[in-house]
Amino acid sequence: MIVIGGGAVGLCAAEALADRGCEVTVYESDRCGAAASAGNAGWVTPSLATPVPGPGVIMASLRWLTDPSGPLWIRPSLSREMLDWIARFMVSCRPPVHRRGLIALQRAAALAGPAFDALAARGIEFEQHVEPLLFPAFSQPELEYLGNMVDELRRAGSAQHLERLSADELRSLEPSLSEHVLGGVAAHDERRVRPESLPAGLHRALIGRGVAVLEHAPVTRLDRRGREWLVESPAGSRRADAVVIAAGVASASLLAPHGVGLPIAAAKGYSRTYEPDPTGPRQALYLEDPKVAISVFDGGVRVSGTLELGARALTLSPRRLAALTAAAQRALPGWRMPARPRDWAGMRSLSPDGLPYIGPVPGLDGVHLATGHATLGITLAPLTGQRLAAMVVDGARDELMSAFDPARAVRRPQ
Ligand SMILES: Cc1cc2nc3c(=O)[nH]c(=O)nc-3n(C[C@H](O)[C@H](O)[C@H](O)COP(=O)(O)OP(=O)(O)OC[C@H]3O[C@@H](n4cnc5c(N)ncnc54)[C@H](O)[C@@H]3O)c2cc1C
Repeated sequence: MIVIGGGAVGLCAAEALADRGCEVTVYESDRCGAAASAGNAGWVTPSLATPVPGPGVIMASLRWLTDPSGPLWIRPSLSREMLDWIARFMVSCRPPVHRRGLIALQRAAALAGPAFDALAARGIEFEQHVEPLLFPAFSQPELEYLGNMVDELRRAGSAQHLERLSADELRSLEPSLSEHVLGGVAAHDERRVRPESLPAGLHRALIGRGVAVLEHAPVTRLDRRGREWLVESPAGSRRADAVVIAAGVASASLLAPHGVGLPIAAAKGYSRTYEPDPTGPRQALYLEDPKVAISVFDGGVRVSGTLELGARALTLSPRRLAALTAAAQRALPGWRMPARPRDWAGMRSLSPDGLPYIGPVPGLDGVHLATGHATLGITLAPLTGQRLAAMVVDGARDELMSAFDPARAVRRPQ
């Protein structure tokens, strides 16, 4: 078996396949874990397992478009692929479509924590914190939004413990919160992993098990050779009867030569990682209005957010980075944020319905996809690996994963 892409998703797929006794080779064009899986917030978060498209998102996006430091920005593009993507995204904002996606993501995210436990039980080492995620509100509309969020998650079948908290209760949990906090929500049953530590732990374990992990080995082409696939790379070509494409936003370019169109867009985000300071936060916080995540890890606090749709380059925007700092400082005014944070940008891969693509590619026997995880690639990486390995090895049909079947969206070869 060959896995293309050494991010969290590809390495989890490789680990799960190797665990089932398959001979696996991983091709990674750069270093494992150096792309989207590096500087993100690292949350394993059932409470935020909602599709990006949803009711109200288009109106909110239009409002944010005029705010250069707002949390969402769409790069103007008249390409046929992008216009098609946007048309599909708009359809996915309709309440019934959004609701179906929400239910599917909630069902999957409920199994995300146990999938991390299973990974740890198989000896994979990574930094993990099992602690609630706090959603403080600083305005009445934000507080109402959080109340509606809890109701919507419950209606979608979430059994997660979501607790409404008063301002005092929140401040006793996180004393550095501004006195302007009005109340909020604590999402229990959440955890976060230091994202850099997950691919690193998987990589170590794969090497230890004798898996070939080829770094600086970009796959340039997939070619059919009888019943097998020839995976071509300047680092050496190999054949396999099954291929998993987990190449993030680049996945579509490997399918295009076969006439398979995969609607996927890049959605850039940023993070700033600060040295720890005693005045800083102790808890993971999500600031709903600016859509900013604050993650406390061993030896660092990370502030992350922003979704730049259709972004092409990983350039760092000083304005957007400053907006992250400003949002964190408003919520935590006493935090003496150290100067010179470590800045980072990464590309999420986003399908128009906001759901990942996990499963076989129609028309290309033996080729499977594991991408499009958008804001949930860390949350769902171990579960994706587990379920995908069962599909590849046993040909198992997976009811839980059926909502993520690539067949719902790909344009098939003629
Ligand atoms: C600011 C920000 C915050 C986030 N916070 C969270 C969070 O809190 N929780 C969460 O669950 N998710 C979060 N995410 C999303 C998460 O980062 C991604 O969904 C996840 O990292 C995707 O993993 P991946 O393995 O699919 O992609 P990647 O990590 O991008 O890996 C894909 C790999 O494929 C390689 N590749 C590409 N083309 C080829 C080729 N031709 N040949 C070989 N290799 C190739 C790339 O080099 C790359 O290493 C966040 C994202 C951002 C940007």
